[in-house]
Amino acid sequence: MARTHHADPVADARVRFGPAGIEVGEIDTLPNQRSHSVLDVIPSFPDSAPPWIAPRAAYVHIPFCAHHCGYCDFAVAAGQDHRIEPYLDALATELAALRTPREIRTLFLGGGTPSHLDVRQLSQLMAELRRWFPGPLDEISLEANPDSFNEEKASLLASFGVNRVSLGVQSFDPRMLRRLERRHEPAHVEPAVAAARHAGMQVSLDLIFGVPGQSMTQWASDLKSALAISPDHVSTYGLTYEKGTQLWKQRQRGEFSPAPEELELQMYQHAMETLEAAGFKQYEISNFARHGFESRHNQVYWANEAFYGFGVGAAAYVGGTRTLNVRNLEVYLQRVLGGESPVFQSETLEPEPRARETLAMNLRRAEGIVFDRFCEQTGFDATALVGTRLNRYTAHGLLELDDRSARLTRSGRCVADAIVAEML
Ligand code: SF4
Repeated sequence: MARTHHADPVADARVRFGPAGIEVGEIDTLPNQRSHSVLDVIPSFPDSAPPWIAPRAAYVHIPFCAHHCGYCDFAVAAGQDHRIEPYLDALATELAALRTPREIRTLFLGGGTPSHLDVRQLSQLMAELRRWFPGPLDEISLEANPDSFNEEKASLLASFGVNRVSLGVQSFDPRMLRRLERRHEPAHVEPAVAAARHAGMQVSLDLIFGVPGQSMTQWASDLKSALAISPDHVSTYGLTYEKGTQLWKQRQRGEFSPAPEELELQMYQHAMETLEAAGFKQYEISNFARHGFESRHNQVYWANEAFYGFGVGAAAYVGGTRTLNVRNLEVYLQRVLGGESPVFQSETLEPEPRARETLAMNLRRAEGIVFDRFCEQTGFDATALVGTRLNRYTAHGLLELDDRSARLTRSGRCVADAIVAEML
């Protein structure tokens, strides 16, 4: 099942790209594989460069959270608000490596909890971002928690062009929220949605299923509550137990029984049926949107196209090279404010692994692998590369295959992680 929570595609990229078997705490003790100064210029490209080389998207990571939820393994900093100001300075320094303003179509502020910043800090952050990405942009998204998003923040953000908010609702049931160690209450959701609507923003809701103790009835009720507030977009993630998290440790100690796999699968199928019946299109394994409200930014990841990345733990993919910033906030601040690059790892894939990665990412989308486009992007014929596999999945009813494209069926989406892993 999919990973939980915000900025899922970036996290996926990190997991695929990160060094296997290395714990979060160990990563930043490894030697820096680049000796660059932070002020090295981020390459620019001619207007004619294709989107898998020249970024038309940017991701900015804001790690601060009011509290560290038990299941979360993202690069987060809880109880470290005294570091917000230096962090904004460090981001400004990292952004200055662009040297000239860049034209992009989408900007995504993920976390962590970007809405944890106060109005003045958000204003400083957005002013800096719009200095480098003046626009016009098609989409600026911000992740928010229901208890830290209000009319004042929404109106300020909208004045900088933020037009989409992704709310980490996760559940409308206080028992599930407690199990996940989330701090907000279900009652916080409606005012947060109203604030976003009042500011003219699109609204996306994140929901988690497969929580220990969650029944199908309860999950159906969560979906119903979500639909009752008419979101434009819904992301549903099966709970995963990432090694080292509190929830993972509790499970290791036998403090609870995880949801049975069969139940989790039924919950996913129920989400697909319910959301589609309510007029949402499932345009990616975990994402559903009303027509025209698909996340443009996240589609960049699934197309395996280029994107800038800034902030602690942020991944970037520029000119065919993937980079990953250090995940430890203190190390990030020391490096960037000391004039060093925050990049921990840099890798330029050979053409075939890059093509396979593109296949795997494309398969997550409802439109799947579009053969002409894939060939133009990678130089490979998809059927020559993985034709035998595609035929096998088709024979098992997991894939629909024709001359133009290959797409996962509903059954295929239920085992998507395994299929995607086989493509790499
Ligand atoms: S609010 Fe989100 S990013 Fe922050 S700790 Fe909780 S799950 Fe992680």
